Amino acid sequence: MEWTYRHFKTRLLDNDICIVGFDYQGKSVNVLTSEALEEIKAIVYGVTADERVKGMVLVSLKDSFIAGADINEIYEMTDIDGCKKLVTETHTVFGEIESSKKPWVVAIDGLCLGGGLELALACHWRVATDNGVFGFPEVKLGIIPGFGGTQRLPRLISLPDALDLITSGRNVYAYPALKRGIIDDVVTNQRGERTIDTVDREAFVVVAIERALALRSQKGLKRNPRTPLLQKILGWPGVRDLITFKKARSMVTARVKNHYPAPLKALDAVQAGLRMSVQRACLEAEMPYLLELVVSRLSKDLIEVFLSTQKTKNQNLGPSFFDPAKHTIGVLGAGLMGSQIAGEISDKGFGVHLKDLEPKFLCDGMNRIIRMKKEDVAKRIINKPECEHRMLRIHPSLSWDDFKSTPFVIEAIKEVLSWKQKALEEFEEAAPTDAIFATNTSSFMISEVAEKARHKERCVGMHFFNPVRKMQLVEIVRSDSTSAQALAHAYELGSIMGKVPLVVRDGPGFLVNRILSRYLVEAVLLVAEGVSIADVDKAAENFGMAIDSGRSMGPLALIDYIGVETAVHVLSSLKKLGDRIVVHPLIGGMIPQGKRPLTFWKQGKENDEVRKLLKEQYAGPQRSVSTETLIKRLVLPMRDEALRCLEEGIVTEPWQVDLAMLYGAGFPAFRGGLLKEMAREGVDHTRADLESLAADHGDRFQPCDSFKEAENVLSAYKM
Ligand code: NAD
Repeated sequence: MEWTYRHFKTRLLDNDICIVGFDYQGKSVNVLTSEALEEIKAIVYGVTADERVKGMVLVSLKDSFIAGADINEIYEMTDIDGCKKLVTETHTVFGEIESSKKPWVVAIDGLCLGGGLELALACHWRVATDNGVFGFPEVKLGIIPGFGGTQRLPRLISLPDALDLITSGRNVYAYPALKRGIIDDVVTNQRGERTIDTVDREAFVVVAIERALALRSQKGLKRNPRTPLLQKILGWPGVRDLITFKKARSMVTARVKNHYPAPLKALDAVQAGLRMSVQRACLEAEMPYLLELVVSRLSKDLIEVFLSTQKTKNQNLGPSFFDPAKHTIGVLGAGLMGSQIAGEISDKGFGVHLKDLEPKFLCDGMNRIIRMKKEDVAKRIINKPECEHRMLRIHPSLSWDDFKSTPFVIEAIKEVLSWKQKALEEFEEAAPTDAIFATNTSSFMISEVAEKARHKERCVGMHFFNPVRKMQLVEIVRSDSTSAQALAHAYELGSIMGKVPLVVRDGPGFLVNRILSRYLVEAVLLVAEGVSIADVDKAAENFGMAIDSGRSMGPLALIDYIGVETAVHVLSSLKKLGDRIVVHPLIGGMIPQGKRPLTFWKQGKENDEVRKLLKEQYAGPQRSVSTETLIKRLVLPMRDEALRCLEEGIVTEPWQVDLAMLYGAGFPAFRGGLLKEMAREGVDHTRADLESLAADHGDRFQPCDSFKEAENVLSAYKM
């Protein structure tokens, strides 16, 4: 027996176990399209009817198991009836797998997300490699798991764990997944040639076959009882409604407020479904919520964010260059940013030369990296030997001699222009003649850093955001002199690091800091005019700023977070843009000579010293400002600056601005995007508001000329 389909291949082994290999044609990862689901259905009915088949092992013939349902299909779904048909049929097929007398074992390597995890949960046993990654990212797309995930997971693992995974969209790695009971075995695997004829030789598939045979035998297999007693109690019928769901609901509400309905609907689906059989719950408790959400505008917006993220990540700027086996990357400066960047690069398998001026700075930097890696070990993302390997790949260095064969150097030294220029000069002496110099400067233009260089074409910007691991954006900055090769290599390294590498043109503040500065400046002016620090931050939080990071944050708390000195540097560098960014002398006062800079917040309370200081220094009138005006003053200048950036070609597409502000500045995804929201509200509306703010507060609000063309520029946005 060998059934062959477009995306699946099958092979019956001598022991009567049928290997079902998934290899989606035309895509680099397996996804559950309606076409793939049709094929799964045919296979399920085929193997069930075939008496020779005693059990099945489902495995991917690609690197990863299944990345989820096909996002493009979900995006296109506007017809509830069509969606209902697909989901109902999928429930029937998954139900057939679950109730099959023949064991279905799934062997998982790499990603097992969304619909892929739901398929795995319908199987009888789950074996994974230690590369396995599991999760339900659906809520991030404004929907809920819709192929039974909200029903099967809470029946398999403890209720609090299941609710956490379903409502957060977080991924878990293999060992934590094993501990929670999502999977049953973890196997260290050496990836071999993976075809339908060879995959059964890989260790994890060998184990999966053994498990299928054991499940087939009279003895069967027993799952380890893993759930601690307290967790079990929290799933008991009387307790769960009173305590577990209540707590989950209040945690979700605190995190997403009323901006994202999906996590709360997922909770409703789980709670209602637990009173029914799985099959009924899938159809009656889960599906109605899914159908409601899948056609919503919010879901379409969030999917657009996902798709533009993919577009940004998958550009082809040139042939691939980096090879961890061959290349060592240089990082200059072992401070806050350099150490994080070095740690992230070593995680990707590269050797790193980390250079600083003194042993003490190197020690501090290495200790910072060790602390981060230890956190990964504690979270069981990596094990101790892997942690040691990653650390051993980082070579602390005080000498340029180590950079003789380093093809790519990231500069993250102190924000002093002459120091950066000197470092570039030394790099040109020491590194190979074709090596690239990527500066992480946040306040100088790339052309300024490269001003004295002999080979300006080798200098490019790689502007990371702090904290490097959490912040997905990296601006890849090209000056007029940057070569295509330097740009392509910087882009590729950003991509390898798992970032969203957005190419932007050189200019003061690049893209994100330039737009964000308008918001920060206005926030400081509001305090100077007598508005309380709490009122400013609260209004911005309620607007949604930084909500997607899991920690809402207003502009003044953000200045505290990035450090007032850094903020002053960045704002000062924007002076050349004109008088609309005028605040730096005001915040400058927050850095007293020889003392630590002041912060807006002190031990969770407003810092009155700062309020007084700003008030004293401010020459303008004191005012009381309504929340509506306050938000307009914070947000509308960002829209204005974004249009100016488009006009100047810092980026070329409005969606690039929106993506950058989402990942780099915490603009909330539920609003669709900084410019998309303006397009929806009507460009003229924003322009009129800015004009009226200009009349009341001065020329800094005067809308730019680009507003005249904005309706056209933004017309590509679907309304
Ligand atoms: P930092 O002060 O923490 O670290 C700078 C390090 O550079 C220090 O350890 C210093 O000893 C070292 N250094 C100075 N001159 C050197 C040289 N010639 N060779 C090697 N090492 C040298 O600074 P940071 O916050 O890590 O910032 C580094 C760069 O990253 C700056 O350009 C900054 O603008 C940029 N940046 C910072 C942030 C942030 O939030 N801190 C965010 C984005 C970009």
